[in-house]
Amino acid sequence: MGKGISSITQSKKSSVNKQNLVVLDGLPDLDEFMFAPSRNQLRQVADFLIDLQQCQCFYCGKSLKSSKYAVDHFIPWSLYPADTGHNFVMADENCNSQKSNYLASQQFLHQWQERNHLHDQSIIREISQLGFLTDLQRSHRVADWAYKQAIENEYLVWLGGKEKKILSHPISAIF
Ligand SMILES: [Zn+2]
Repeated sequence: MGKGISSITQSKKSSVNKQNLVVLDGLPDLDEFMFAPSRNQLRQVADFLIDLQQCQCFYCGKSLKSSKYAVDHFIPWSLYPADTGHNFVMADENCNSQKSNYLASQQFLHQWQERNHLHDQSIIREISQLGFLTDLQRSHRVADWAYKQAIENEYLVWLGGKEKKILSHPISAIF
């Protein structure tokens, strides 16, 4: 294995996204976790997260009772196609579709990191038993990598609602 997040896999598989995967030391091969979760698994993840988030959308805080909702990948699947437990958040239909394949703003990043630290143990307990890799450090290192990519490449990040902006230098020292 390479040296942490600086190593990039050169996957033999054809997916373009996989070429950007982060290789992290001492952790299981990502391929093991690249299965499409069943509806049942996702429903159980949803049940847990709805409870954890007190039935509110992770992003806008609106009640999930009155709208459709989805399990959202905080770090978009298109950037990092693996289901890791801490990466899941519940979002209402609007936020989920507006966020789409974008990274969320730094404010949301901080909120997500805080959530993961606060609820690390219950996320590990509940989501790992559903068959997902749950490792907070790994998830946060993937996030660090993704946001560095975003800064370097001036990606648009999603601010909520219909708002997006380019994430560029200078940026507060979040890493
Ligand atoms: Zn929302």
